[in-house]
Amino acid sequence: MSDTAPAQSPTAPRPARARAEIDLDALRGNVRALRAKAPTAAFMAVVKADGYGHGALPCARAAVDAGATWIGTATPQEALALRAAGLPADVRIMCWLWTPGDPWREAVEAGLDISVSDVWALREVVAAARAADRPARVQLKADTGLGRNGCQPADWPELVARAVRAERDGLLRVTGLWSHFACADEPGHPSITAQLTLFRELVAHAEQQGVRPEVRHIANSPATLTLPETHFDLVRPGIAMYGVSPSPDLGSAADLGLRPVMTLAASLALVKHVPGGHGVSYGHHYTTPGETTLGLVPLGYADGVPRHASGAGPVLVGGKWRTAAGRIAMDQFVVDLGGDEPAPGAEAVLFGPGDRGEPTAQDWARAAGTIAYEIVTRIGARVPRVYVGETP
Ligand SMILES: *Cc1c(COP(=O)(O)O)cnc(C)c1O
Repeated sequence: MSDTAPAQSPTAPRPARARAEIDLDALRGNVRALRAKAPTAAFMAVVKADGYGHGALPCARAAVDAGATWIGTATPQEALALRAAGLPADVRIMCWLWTPGDPWREAVEAGLDISVSDVWALREVVAAARAADRPARVQLKADTGLGRNGCQPADWPELVARAVRAERDGLLRVTGLWSHFACADEPGHPSITAQLTLFRELVAHAEQQGVRPEVRHIANSPATLTLPETHFDLVRPGIAMYGVSPSPDLGSAADLGLRPVMTLAASLALVKHVPGGHGVSYGHHYTTPGETTLGLVPLGYADGVPRHASGAGPVLVGGKWRTAAGRIAMDQFVVDLGGDEPAPGAEAVLFGPGDRGEPTAQDWARAAGTIAYEIVTRIGARVPRVYVGETP
């Protein structure tokens, strides 16, 4: 892939084309920091979407090291893959995004906690439990105001009644009652207390009907960080565990006691002198203002570098912030190095924790008009993940 290695910053292992370095010690530290904010609640590490792009299995293992006793995913396929990979058997795995035709029976046999938002799903679970000849673990999800997944309050009594009946028949165990916030990242938003009040009512109704859940839960990252009254029996942080602030309005990662886990870096593929007036990349949206040097960064939108950050995305090269000059293409983009002449192979850091002076995922989110969640989760499969810190 590469020939001789040009000078590198002493702290950074050399990337080939590019790499996403995943600092598992940082992830452990973030789990501990979040647990300290919710000391009486169990911790569910949310590792959906391949651990927000960081690698689901190594992140799940590191989170368990740091005290997580639950793992959360969106799809049953993600959850089954983790169960098959051999996480400790006492670590519970829950998944919440089910579609007809999904592997219900495998999920029951694997002992997954299955989220149910509707009667059709309860029917599937019950059929799977009969086929597997063992009770399913079911967590009933209420829509307390997010308006996305979850059972509408008007339909809750029927869902609860049917679940209670199936529990009495030995076909399932209602292990949890849960919901999800719409605006937990907007401190003081009136929907927060409204959702919380409704959640308490729906939980109370289910308990009056005889449900005895192991866990009641509603807190995502921002709620874990800032709303102790929402912690109940379990918290479900995702983004904060990866060291990214859920919202700039809540403060930076450092303000929240978190450390970004992913560093995205590449090796410059070309450094060249060009005259002034030279158009750069598709559409010539950048023209060199004078004689200069250009550096070619071998990462593009197919790797998850957002095309919307063309002309704006920041990169640290040789201790200086440079900006994506012109369009970000599928596999590559260009930075104007202003006459500097780093060697080919010199390190270009797109984002990281920020303490080497590099930009953060939040800086890229701002440049692309999106949220940092989208920046880290979309880093493509072509970028190798390299794990640093103690690997569990
Ligand atoms: C993604 C997700 C979470 C974690 O959300 P963050 O904002 O990343 O903390 C928690 N619960 C559910 C249901 C989710 O889908």
